[in-house]
Amino acid sequence: MAKSPEVKLAVFGRAGVGKSALVVRFLTRRFIWEYDPTLESTYRHQANIDDEVVTMEILDTAGQEDIQQKEGHVRWGDGFVIVYDITDRGSFEEVGPLRSLLEEVKKPKNVPLVLVGNKSDLDHIRQVATEEGERLAAEMACAFYECSACANEGGAVAEAFHELCREVRRR
Ligand code: GDP
Ligand code: MG
Repeated sequence: MAKSPEVKLAVFGRAGVGKSALVVRFLTRRFIWEYDPTLESTYRHQANIDDEVVTMEILDTAGQEDIQQKEGHVRWGDGFVIVYDITDRGSFEEVGPLRSLLEEVKKPKNVPLVLVGNKSDLDHIRQVATEEGERLAAEMACAFYECSACANEGGAVAEAFHELCREVRRR
């Protein structure tokens, strides 16, 4: 039997945007309110995507690494989830620079990537419009998901990770 493909995914974004909550939601279908913000963890996870068993290694970064550490994470990864918090405009503004870093480290290769606007349950204190996320994703030529690690309506969190796996496998 052919060895199942393995993809390395790294989750990036400013501290506090919900990276750990999203990863834990994806892996356990649960929401954990408080998660050590300084912790960096890797997880292994298998999923059936389009009738193929894919093994993922997922790196949940802390979001406060220095540039050398960040570059190391970028070199390690095959695909990237860039997360911002829809209630934190500053986190949205950090997406562009993160994307540039990915491009720079991976060039001349294309970088498989998905953009996630998290905390969509907090619509009443939203600072970033859905259209802005969509526009940025279009500029970066990547898929875009607004989702919530705590509400997870429609399973958008898993969809984002699965789409990223597909994107990696296409390259
Ligand atoms: P990280 O630093 O990016 O890993 O962020 P965490 O996963 O530690 O989450 C930071 C804070 O945001 C925690 O207090 C979480 O409970 C909260 N949080 C994460 N995701 C969501 C979400 O989708 N909705 C809401 N309302 N809070 C969230
Ligand atoms: Mg975290």
